[in-house]
Formats: sequence, structure tokens, C-alpha cells
Amino acid sequence: MIGGKLASFATEANLKNNGDIIYGEYEGYEVSLFELDNEKTIFIDFYLPEDQQLTRDAIRKFINDSNIQYAIQSSSLSSTGIKVVFQNKSNVYDNIKEFFYTLVYFLKAKGVPGADTCTNCGKHLDSYTVVSVQGCVHTCCTECAEKITGSNKAAMLLKSRKNIFVGGIGALFGALVGTILWVFVAYNGYFALWAGVLIALLARLGYMLFGGKSSVAEIIYNILFSIIGVAVAEFLSECIDLYRNWHASGFVFKLSEVVNTAFSNLLSGPKYYMPYLEAVGIGSVFALLTVLALIGVKKRSSRLFTGVERLAQ
Ligand SMILES: [Zn+2]
Repeated sequence: MIGGKLASFATEANLKNNGDIIYGEYEGYEVSLFELDNEKTIFIDFYLPEDQQLTRDAIRKFINDSNIQYAIQSSSLSSTGIKVVFQNKSNVYDNIKEFFYTLVYFLKAKGVPGADTCTNCGKHLDSYTVVSVQGCVHTCCTECAEKITGSNKAAMLLKSRKNIFVGGIGALFGALVGTILWVFVAYNGYFALWAGVLIALLARLGYMLFGGKSSVAEIIYNILFSIIGVAVAEFLSECIDLYRNWHASGFVFKLSEVVNTAFSNLLSGPKYYMPYLEAVGIGSVFALLTVLALIGVKKRSSRLFTGVERLAQ
């Protein structure tokens, strides 16, 4: 059971703690921390084939140079990752924490392929499977995950996750819910343009709930579906206005006629489409500001750790 300082470290670095292993993606690497026979260990997964001799030597040298400073008991380098065991000194948790950050940034600077590359075959991964082998957590493709868990009794599947396409469906779904809320607000006669915020928030939530991978695609989906959502919502709001006008005038009509007329109105000249475009513009600004704010929140939470970079110097 992992508790205390390691558990709070997991929270700080936004990692999962399943009770036995702390793991998750950090700065593009799948990392894991665990205690085995009272030995505190970190493991960073990557793909580094045997022929990458220079990088392997650089990592070895980096670890050797850090041995004393961080009280490293032992370390082992393989083509699928690096494992470092720490001496049980009183400041072991500080050592783990500091060295963890230092090592991740070192690997990143060296351009070692991390979580988006299969640890076993080196294939680029859009969606990946997470496998644990005695606490060491790897990301790999589905085929390699089957091979690893099939051939190694100590290996277990932690989970399959994170796909930008499935995430995109979630974002679309979220934006749709936001669009319905916008129309609901407009239907009740309230100012609705601010609901661009709702559309953007729900698109982002949908992306996350569907297991979307954190990437540029997330932001692109968020912006794209938010603007489409705003455009559709504003169009439906105009349909509602038209419906109300006709209804008040005592016309008998079908809903499809309302939609058709609203649509052809939009195309019939600047007098009609300019107000529509203005409304879509304002709604989109609300949505884009929300997307920016969400990126800001993310940046701030990851900036928490960069102080450690200085410790590496
Ligand atoms: Zn593979």
C-alpha cells in the first residue's frame, strides 16, 4: 500500500495511485513509482533499441553522475525503460521526487521516445495500452500488450486508454449537449451568447470523459466543435424567433418550413446574415476565451514541477 509522501507526490504530479503502483503519463513519459520489499523504485518507460548506443551511454553517465547526490542504490537500463532504486535514507522521498523530475527532463532533452511509442516494437501510438511488469509500467500497442501479458506471468494489463479519435467523438457529443443548453436558454427568452462558454466547457469535458489523449488535437477539437456548436445553436435560436413570430401571427405551418425559411433568410442578404454572423462571432469569442482559460489552467498545473529543473543543474 502506498501512502504518505509518495501518495502526495502522485497527486502533485497528476499521477494515478492504485494502491500498489503510482503511475501515469508525465511530460510525455509513462512513469511508475512503487515499493517492493521496502525498496523504493522509480521506472520510466521508453523505447530505446540496443543500437542507440550514444543515448544509452549518455543515460548511464547521467545516472552514474547522480548516484551520490540522490543516494541511488542501483539502477538498470534496458531498451524498454530505466529503473532506479533508492537507498532508504531519511530524505529518500525528496531524493525520489527530485531525481524523478530531473530524469524525465533529461530523457526529454535527449529526445528519447516516450509514451507515444510502443515500448516493445517502437510503433507510434495514437491510442495505447498500459501494461505493468512487476511495478514497471509500459505503454505499448495492443499486439505487443497481448504478447507481453501472454508470455510473462508477472505482467498485467492496467488499462487501454487515450485515443484522440474517440476523444473527438466525446468532444462532439459534449458540444452537442452545450448547443442544446444554448437553445434552451434562448428558448426561454434569455441572452444566450454567453452559452458559448458552456459549449466549449462541455466539448472539453466530453473529450476527457471519452478518454481523449492530451494533445494538440484536444485543442483543435475543442475550438472546431465549439464554433460549429455556436453556429448551429444561433441558427436554431433564429428558428425559435421565427417560430414565435409566425405563431403569434396565427399562421399554420410545419416545423420544417420554419427551418427552411430561417435558412433561406440567412442567404438572402447582408441584412439577415450580418446579425447572424455577429452573434456567432460573439458566441465564438466566449467559447475561445474558455478554451484559452482551460489551456491556462493546464499550463499552470504543469508548471508546478519545473522548479525542479533548477535542481538538476
Ligand atoms: Zn508494439
